[in-house]
Amino acid sequence: MYRKRTGPRPLTLEPVSYKQSHLRVAQRRGRAADAVGGCIDCGGNASQWAYNHASEREQSGWTVGKNEHLYKVTWSPDPDDYDPRCVPCHKAFDLGRSDA
Ligand SMILES: [Zn+2]
Repeated sequence: MYRKRTGPRPLTLEPVSYKQSHLRVAQRRGRAADAVGGCIDCGGNASQWAYNHASEREQSGWTVGKNEHLYKVTWSPDPDDYDPRCVPCHKAFDLGRSDA
C-alpha cells in the first residue's frame, strides 16, 4: 500500500521520551512565550509549557537535573496536555501536587 504523504506527519500518541515530549510541544504549539493569553494562572508572560498532570497517557520516569541529580518526572506524549505558565506559577503548580 502506498500512501502519499502530504503535510506534517499525523500526530501519534505512542509513548515518547521526556525530552521528546517537550520537543513535540514546541513543534506543535510553538513557544510558551507566544501562547495566546499568557500564563494560564496569572495571565503574565508564560515562559514554560507545564504538563497538566491529567493525561490518560501519562508516562513517568527519571531524568538528570542540575547537579547530576536524578529526579522523577511525569509527562504526556500529547501536546494538548500542556499549559503555558510563567516560572513562579509553574513552580507553585508543581509544589501543590502531592506526587511531586
Ligand atoms: Zn503565572
